[in-house]
Amino acid sequence: MTKDYMVRALAFDGTISASAVCATNTVNTAHEKHDTWSASTAALGRSLVAGFLMGATQKGDVKLTIKVQGDGPGGAIIIDADTKGHVKGYIQQPHVSLPLNDHGKLDVRGVVGTKGSLTVIKDLGLKEPFTGQVPLVSGELAEDFTYYMSASEQIPSSMGLSVLVETDESVRAAGGFLIQVMPGATEETIQILEERLAKLPLVSKMIDEGKTPEDILNTVLGAENVEFLDQTEVSFQCDCSKDKFAEVLTSLGEGTLTELIEEDHGAETVCHFCNSKYQFTEDELRDLLNEAQKLKAESEETND
Ligand code: ZN
Repeated sequence: MTKDYMVRALAFDGTISASAVCATNTVNTAHEKHDTWSASTAALGRSLVAGFLMGATQKGDVKLTIKVQGDGPGGAIIIDADTKGHVKGYIQQPHVSLPLNDHGKLDVRGVVGTKGSLTVIKDLGLKEPFTGQVPLVSGELAEDFTYYMSASEQIPSSMGLSVLVETDESVRAAGGFLIQVMPGATEETIQILEERLAKLPLVSKMIDEGKTPEDILNTVLGAENVEFLDQTEVSFQCDCSKDKFAEVLTSLGEGTLTELIEEDHGAETVCHFCNSKYQFTEDELRDLLNEAQKLKAESEETND
């Protein structure tokens, strides 16, 4: 399997900004970590691909959190993405598999639902994060992200998201693209793009046929118009650790820690994003209890 990567490009004299990503390994990693079934894999996978593409539009060190909250059986989908090509994410109900829809495709709308919201939180390292929210307009996700871009960020856009799942549940191909219309774009350019997008094959099909992210953008924009800017390796990556969960346990306070020690004689924490499990023995919990007591004593001192 070829490596996952994303390209960014400008086209039509800088009036069109574009990116495309091949994310087959990323989505397959998510499938393996969360044991997702086909429809859940497609919904989570499309959201992870959107995370890459949204990350690519940001400048500097920005952390994005995407929350898709629909009324379908999949429940909420949560994605964290950065601007360096890393995503992590989960779907509340990984075990949803549905009959293929009328187009013979995985029924993402059936998993996500049609009523609900799409929320994007951008942490720019400032005091308050930026939050944008739109209602779901489709449930197929690409349309929902496209609507978010136009309505919340006022950038006319077109996003394609696509995941192809094998009969054995593994991910055969996954990827997407994002085209954004910048100020100065001519009506003619927009018309050319609309015509090309209408005829574009499914992205996952193109990737399955061996097409690269560059090929995808060349197909949408016309090779003669594209100027590639950069290429970034992308992957599913979680930054959780036993130390982080130790901090969380310590913050629960003396009462809860004492309960875990005396009643459960240990604890197991699970990371929602990557399903990693961390075990804490009774002794380790006693250390955390000491830490919690020390912190409490210190904060009482400063209060005096
Ligand atoms: Zn994790």
